[in-house]
Amino acid sequence: MANLMAKTKGGGDWVQNFVMSLDKDKCIACGRCYKACPSSVMTLDEEEDEDGDDRKFMKLVNDLNCLGCMACSKVCPKGCFEHKPMAA
Ligand code: SF4
Ligand code: SF4
Repeated sequence: MANLMAKTKGGGDWVQNFVMSLDKDKCIACGRCYKACPSSVMTLDEEEDEDGDDRKFMKLVNDLNCLGCMACSKVCPKGCFEHKPMAA
């Protein structure tokens, strides 16, 4: 089965790799993905860790708006994201 594709400026095909998950346990809350994402897919959140300290992390909030550009993964220093193409 073919995957969903977008077009380049020159008319070529490229397979969109949509964000599937963000591993908050690996996240260091650097904010790089937030700045890179063109579609406001993630936001910063925080929780209390086992020592009672606040711990910030990024989470997906609008993943249905994902364009499949993979900019988030390219800038993430911790490999937090998983992506997958979608069947057309
Ligand atoms: S793949 Fe692109 S649009 Fe989707 S979450 Fe990552 S940066 Fe945003
Ligand atoms: S780029 Fe990676 S480590 Fe940085 S906030 Fe985003 S998910 Fe977390």
